[in-house]
Amino acid sequence: MTSQLPHGAATDIGRARRTNEDAYVADPPLFAVADGMGGHLAGDVAAATAVKVLSREVRDAGDALVAAVKAANQAVHRQAKSDPKLSGMGTTMTAMLAGPTSIQIVHVGDSRAYLLRDGNLRRLTRDHTVADRLAREGKIRAEEADRHPQRSVLERAIGVYPDVSVDVEVVDVRPGDRIVLCTDGLTSMLTDPEILDVLLAESDPETASRRLCDEAVRAGGSDNVTAVVVDYPREGARGEATAVSLPEAGGDGSRPPNPAPLPSRTAAASGTAGVPRRRRAPVRALVALLLLAAVGAAGLLLGRLALSNSWYVGASDGRVAVFRGVPGSVAGFRFASVTERTDIAVSTLPTVYQRRLEEGITAGSRAQAGEIVEGIRDLRLQEAGPPSPASPTPSPGYAP
Ligand code: MG
Repeated sequence: MTSQLPHGAATDIGRARRTNEDAYVADPPLFAVADGMGGHLAGDVAAATAVKVLSREVRDAGDALVAAVKAANQAVHRQAKSDPKLSGMGTTMTAMLAGPTSIQIVHVGDSRAYLLRDGNLRRLTRDHTVADRLAREGKIRAEEADRHPQRSVLERAIGVYPDVSVDVEVVDVRPGDRIVLCTDGLTSMLTDPEILDVLLAESDPETASRRLCDEAVRAGGSDNVTAVVVDYPREGARGEATAVSLPEAGGDGSRPPNPAPLPSRTAAASGTAGVPRRRRAPVRALVALLLLAAVGAAGLLLGRLALSNSWYVGASDGRVAVFRGVPGSVAGFRFASVTERTDIAVSTLPTVYQRRLEEGITAGSRAQAGEIVEGIRDLRLQEAGPPSPASPTPSPGYAP
């Protein structure tokens, strides 16, 4: 029965990344998402290896999902050790084995599983991130965790150490339930109520998974995004569940806007109404100049604002530093300056974290930037020694 579960899966590179380092499995009864990290091709390799080994292990060993995820961890770890180019790579993994009346979920990292039942969306996993831990410890409010600068700094990942501790959950399911597995490219762009809206609007799981990705890209698409949707159909409603697809609202922006019709523009430019055009030309040129000047002034103003009101933590001369401004550059211009260079050497941090610093970790205020620096200091201390055998899952910070 579970081999016939209606399901859909979609992934999108998003708007900001050059590669898609997410991977997924949608092969009933096994479903999984993995979000690779490690820069260049390494994250790609980690996620792909993890889902490949997971699939093979489940096929060979049946329902031993925990063992399969741990085998995936070992495979990624071995691969990272054997090739310097892959050093420091890892991946999240949220895997589900779907049974007739229950599902088993095995989870590491900040991808998520959700259960939609009776119109309510319930999260089945907790994020293994610094921000989530701070929320559980009462140091920040729960609703702050999703916006916290360390929301994507992982405390656990597949492939980082030879062994990994995993969360296991078994959930009873009933007809009408829908399960969603997704990477943080979805949850960092859409709120839970927005995800719920899409799931309620799209009865077909394939359409639902595609639209979740599309909405995340439309909302900014700052990360790769992957969504897997699995339905437990109501009695006698299987055909309906797979066949019904709500009509898309026309002009809702789901498709890129049509480019301006080139032929008509060309026609206007080569129009033969010579006299009126000649008269209007200087006016148009003046308007264009004024517009350009206004855009330039607005750009300068925005740049100054960005510089004065924004903060981030990055790397400067090999040290962790606090910057005022925004990371990166626009048209070759940088809008940032160093306000404090700390005594933390970037080289003492986990490789993946070093790459995160190169990108810049944005903060809401100078004080928050200071908190991030202190968090980084802790990571360095925890990284100082090899992982103790007594605690197979130390908590270094890794950011995908
Ligand atoms: Mg991600």
